[in-house]
Amino acid sequence: MEPLTTRASRVVNKEMTFGEKIYLPAIFSGMWITLKHFFKKNNTVSYPEEKRPVAPIYRGQHVLKRDDEGRERCTACGLCAVACPAEAITMVAAEREKGEESLYREEKYASTYEINMLRCIFCGLCEEACPKEAIFLTDRLVDAEFGRNEFIYGKEKLVEKTDQRIDVSQRQIWDNH
Ligand code: SF4
Ligand code: SF4
Repeated sequence: MEPLTTRASRVVNKEMTFGEKIYLPAIFSGMWITLKHFFKKNNTVSYPEEKRPVAPIYRGQHVLKRDDEGRERCTACGLCAVACPAEAITMVAAEREKGEESLYREEKYASTYEINMLRCIFCGLCEEACPKEAIFLTDRLVDAEFGRNEFIYGKEKLVEKTDQRIDVSQRQIWDNH
């Protein structure tokens, strides 16, 4: 039968030479390779102190945006949850009360909004579906955790802080049309 590649080599069960039997040349040649790597440029990245640059269309941890006046943009319409192929998004809608106009932009808002980061496949369909420009994916990585429940991100992790806005203006959305 024809081999699929030219990389195949036949295994020969030949008698080992004296040099092979004492293993020392093999050990020294292995150590020589290690020594060469010792002086090469280190490719290891000390995350999270150091981060690799990501592509402008990189899709990482979501953010729920506020408007210019600091009000939550999300109106709990549910379109993102419907668009989500992984069924990772759940929310509970609530009606804005009198006096809450400075908190929520629309009369309806999400009192609970959760994304299960273990289900999410970071496809970006939620941000494409959102009519209010309320949800965006960012270049942030989802943190490692020890428990599965800790990957369910609620509003406290998703909504941007009023004093720590997350700039998504440079983000490019992948256009596959
Ligand atoms: S990125 Fe995709 S999988 Fe993740 S929450 Fe949004 S729509 Fe769902
Ligand atoms: S994030 Fe956007 S699509 Fe999702 S519920 Fe809020 S307003 Fe609707």
